[in-house]
Amino acid sequence: MPQTDLTSDTPAQNSSAAAIAPRPRKVPRIVVLGGGSVGLYSARRLRKRLGRRDAAIVVVDPRPYMTYAPFLPEVAAGSITDRDVVAPHRRALKHVDTLQGKVTKITHRERKIEITPEEGDPYEITYDHLVVGLGSVARTLPIPGLAEQAIGFKNVEEAVAVRNQILNRINLASSTWDPDLRKRMLTFTFVGGGFAGIEALAETEDMARAAVKNLPGVDQSDLRFVMIEGSDRILPELTLEMANYALSEMKKRGIEFHLSTFLSSCVDGHVVTSTGVEFDSDTIVWTAGVKANPVLATSDLPLDRMGRLQVLPTLQVADDDGNVVADAWGAGDCAAVPDLYNPGAFCPPNAQHAIREAKVLADNLYATLTGGKLEEYSHKNLGTVASLGLHKGVAILFGKIKLRGFPAWVMHRMYHVAAMPTASRKIRITTNWVGTWLLRREVVSLGSIHDPRAEFRAASAPAAKPKDAPAAANAEAKADK
Ligand SMILES: Cc1cc2nc3c(=O)[nH]c(=O)nc-3n(C[C@H](O)[C@H](O)[C@H](O)COP(=O)(O)OP(=O)(O)OC[C@H]3O[C@@H](n4cnc5c(N)ncnc54)[C@H](O)[C@@H]3O)c2cc1C
Repeated sequence: MPQTDLTSDTPAQNSSAAAIAPRPRKVPRIVVLGGGSVGLYSARRLRKRLGRRDAAIVVVDPRPYMTYAPFLPEVAAGSITDRDVVAPHRRALKHVDTLQGKVTKITHRERKIEITPEEGDPYEITYDHLVVGLGSVARTLPIPGLAEQAIGFKNVEEAVAVRNQILNRINLASSTWDPDLRKRMLTFTFVGGGFAGIEALAETEDMARAAVKNLPGVDQSDLRFVMIEGSDRILPELTLEMANYALSEMKKRGIEFHLSTFLSSCVDGHVVTSTGVEFDSDTIVWTAGVKANPVLATSDLPLDRMGRLQVLPTLQVADDDGNVVADAWGAGDCAAVPDLYNPGAFCPPNAQHAIREAKVLADNLYATLTGGKLEEYSHKNLGTVASLGLHKGVAILFGKIKLRGFPAWVMHRMYHVAAMPTASRKIRITTNWVGTWLLRREVVSLGSIHDPRAEFRAASAPAAKPKDAPAAANAEAKADK
């Protein structure tokens, strides 16, 4: 396995660069796994506090950008363009080295990670300090048909695909006369009624209704949006009163809820629920929770029984007895961060915590390097805001202020645009919103974007020869004479 040395702070671009012989390091190297909320914010803060002569900072991520996931439902609804909800690492992480590739193994006792780039051979790099911000992945179940039929809603690619799928199905249905096929095309199923699922459902339903407004051939009543949720309520992050408000508002819009219900099967798009309801649906979006990134299981770092990295309130990795594992730090969705405001509980996996944890983590790592004092992460939830479509929302601020409808929606936008990294992204998103407000949102489907070579393939295929081609050619030749 080739080992690369980044003493010069120059990222290895390929496996030949990776074969450079190791040299003694001049400055300590901090390797940050994952360039999402935790990775981007902690690397930026570390770089601000540590000059290039103090430490080398390397961020490893298969994507060259950080995605601000709370805006994904708005991307799916077309209120924000996909490019504007991502912060490119090269612009947001000045003087930080970035390596594009997946971390596939972590061997902390040797201070070594393995990176697998999209192309080329895996290689290893070593480090002095490790920051783990690998986030989470969709928590799926072995449900027949799920892997083949469903799509997740965790990243920008999926949000764009869900948008195109919904608009594409609507357009196809408008030119389809088979009633069963139309029903299937116009039935959109979401599984999992937490924050991501409810926002994704509410935003795309709102967009679908706007899309059929001027579309002959599809009526509002033809659209069927279905939510399947295992527990007896939605939005567990909100109080029951506010969650019930959201539920009743969405029901008024015609959205169908199956609570205390599980998805049993969806083979070939035929949905069967645990309560015996059956229907066909071309679109199944899986938003039923997340689990810590499974790559952690390849590491020798201590994990809890849910596969999360065990950390102390200082965000230092610690073993079962609370002993600090030297030089290892973790935060965000992939870590079990004790919630000091709720003793015995852990911080929920959300951006509100991840971004704040990143700052404390960076400050504590800096303090470790400079002999300073470590602080504990504690953050009292500021509130919860959710968008339920254009101009609709629900919010609780500071535990007691309850907002419904338009004011909640405004609060949702204000809160998240403030949390979006980089000034340029904030401006771009605000401009998107002003554009949508002035010109109405764009509901065009770019259905073929997911198979852009299809038309070229068809055009390049050798033309089929008609059976009677020789006879026709002879006849033509005779006629010419
Ligand atoms: C649709 C949706 C809506 C949400 N809405 C809200 C909301 O309204 N409010 C809120 O507070 N939170 C919300 N969240 C949750 C929030 O986005 C996450 O909790 C937060 O992003 C977690 O930050 P993180 O740094 O732990 O993980 P992430 O931001 O997900 O970053 C993880 C990074 O690790 C990278 N990575 C993955 N595997 C590897 C690997 N093998 N090697 C290297 N890198 C890897 C990923 O590419 C990614 O860049 C939402 C999430 C979703 C999906």
